[in-house]
Amino acid sequence: METVAPFKEVIEEIKENGAEAVKFCYQCGKCDTVCPWNRVRSFSMRKLIREAVFGLTEIENEEIWRCTTCGKCPQKCPRDVKQIQNMVGLRRMATSYGVFPAAVKPYRGVSAGLTAEGNPFGEERAKRAAWADGLGVKPFAEGMEILYFTGCYLSYDSRLKKVAQATANILKKAGVNFGILGSKENCCGESIRKTGNEELFKRMARENIKAFIDNGVKKILVSSPHCYHTFKNEYPEFSVNFEVVHITEYLAQLIKEGRLQISKEYAKKITYHDPCYLGRHNGIFDAPREVLKQIPGLELNELPEAREESMCCGMGGGRVWAETPKTERFSNLRLEQAIGVGAEILVTACPYCITAFEDSRLVMNFEDNLQVKDITEILQEVI
Ligand code: SF4
Ligand code: SF4
Repeated sequence: METVAPFKEVIEEIKENGAEAVKFCYQCGKCDTVCPWNRVRSFSMRKLIREAVFGLTEIENEEIWRCTTCGKCPQKCPRDVKQIQNMVGLRRMATSYGVFPAAVKPYRGVSAGLTAEGNPFGEERAKRAAWADGLGVKPFAEGMEILYFTGCYLSYDSRLKKVAQATANILKKAGVNFGILGSKENCCGESIRKTGNEELFKRMARENIKAFIDNGVKKILVSSPHCYHTFKNEYPEFSVNFEVVHITEYLAQLIKEGRLQISKEYAKKITYHDPCYLGRHNGIFDAPREVLKQIPGLELNELPEAREESMCCGMGGGRVWAETPKTERFSNLRLEQAIGVGAEILVTACPYCITAFEDSRLVMNFEDNLQVKDITEILQEVI
């Protein structure tokens, strides 16, 4: 394959993203031993880093798009090589050349949808709040306790709208004075940034920040760990700081304060999957477990790879929009693990994880063996 990106430009781009760290990669291969790709096909971060150091990166190479940014190899790397930042740097370059290999061709359509309607599906902006029809959810107004930033998947995806509705029902039951921005809400931009489309990320971020400021938002509640991550860790690049709370933390707090009472049993065996962007990237491991442990009758069995060791569902880094062959989905393995610990329900707290697991239930013919639920869907049934 021809090398499109000249040596110098690759190195310059990498420099911006931790060139020193790349130089010190000593090719130990620890990254490859922990990367989930190597459970479903061969993939080498070690090799990609080596090629980058020597300016041999081929930006047409599908491999640079593969990393889901799960955060597992940075955790194990003895040389603090910034694998994620370096891959995103290479993707930025490929995006600027308009190079999209077959598996990531859908990213073009996603970008068009985000540009036109503020969501990756290209669904009408005006229908962003349709999930809340009939629920009595109010538009956000200054002075309210919290903004519920619903996010794209919970606003438009038919499976995930149920999670938004469960969330609204719980908040109402707890007497939380909350509102939504509806058509004034844009995609948070987290995933499009990881595909290398920095300009579109900035546009999404600026529009959201403007909407937050114009509407007097101080505290933001999110369902998606991807929204959480970007509001908390990336929006401060624009010199703003909003208080951001993930729904699992908020639920734990509402229960602790006695605002939310659990009144029913839930006699099911469940297991909990730590989403990468909630757990490894942001350290929220305990809040979801605290909530689940409050539910009488519920039996929580941990997965073999839990908390810091959690296995990625495969959807981060923009891969939620990529074409991944059915046999190469990490989520298939995660479902097998859930069944292996005797779970009837696989519970998580991320729209991408739910999307991956619901797809894998069909792929693996596990529809009768295992249900997939967001933590709010369980809580809604017991309050
Ligand atoms: S774990 Fe770090 S030092 Fe080892 S090969 Fe991977 S990037 Fe290089
Ligand atoms: S961050 Fe995760 S997906 Fe990306 S190379 Fe490392 S282990 Fe693999």
